[in-house]
Amino acid sequence: MRGFTDKMAEEKSKYTKRADGRKFDELRKVEAKVGIIPEADGSAMYKSGDTIAIASVFGPRTLHPQHMQNPETGILRVNYDMMSFSVYERKRPGPNRRSQEISKVTEWALAPCVDLSEFPNSVVDVFIEIPQADAGTRVAGINAAAMALAHAGIPMKELASAVAVGKLDKTIVVDLSKEEEDFEEGEGATDIPVCFLSRSKKLSLLQLDGKISTEELNKAIELGKKACEEINKIQTKALKEIKE
Ligand code: ADP
Repeated sequence: MRGFTDKMAEEKSKYTKRADGRKFDELRKVEAKVGIIPEADGSAMYKSGDTIAIASVFGPRTLHPQHMQNPETGILRVNYDMMSFSVYERKRPGPNRRSQEISKVTEWALAPCVDLSEFPNSVVDVFIEIPQADAGTRVAGINAAAMALAHAGIPMKELASAVAVGKLDKTIVVDLSKEEEDFEEGEGATDIPVCFLSRSKKLSLLQLDGKISTEELNKAIELGKKACEEINKIQTKALKEIKE
């Protein structure tokens, strides 16, 4: 519930209304679909506004090169890539520092969900492609990947749901669009991608790009948690709709 101090902060903020008319705690229009790549062991699509993420899962399969194998457990390996035509200005094809960072944090966000102890020396590969980007691609990728892992029948302890919360001047909002991410007035935009796990309720991703007070960060995490609960319901519904 929004308190008196929240209202005071929002009144003083230079960001008083969302460009697309959403409420501050409202997600963009979401679409989720499971089983979109027949050749993959598991696959899913997650769309939030104009951001689209596709994930496909292959494995568990023997990990090569052999020296990377873990005889105790299988491992998760994530590859995130934004397609060249996903943004207005053509993005150079192939991996870059940003995609490597996003692949790693996505791997860490998803790893607590899976139990690969039955698959020593193996790897589960998760490929995330972004055909269209309008901010929040890493969180859309996580949401698609979590569904794709479940679709592949990988033993899972829980599901992961992620959203980007933001602070626009002094206002905390959920699921930033690119236009919002580029907001420069007052204190500007702070982007905070978060990922919550469905059963343990733990945070498996928290990144922060910008400035924020402890009080504001706590509020952002709280809003993110509620949004992730909503996303979890959408993912679960999409998983139940699988026909095969
Ligand atoms: P996220 O997509 O998770 O929010 P970033 O904050 O790094 O990750 O990127 C924000 C947005 O900036 C992306 O969703 C995309 O719309 C845009 N963007 C990222 N990289 C590029 C690029 N190389 N060229 C043009 N736009 C980009």
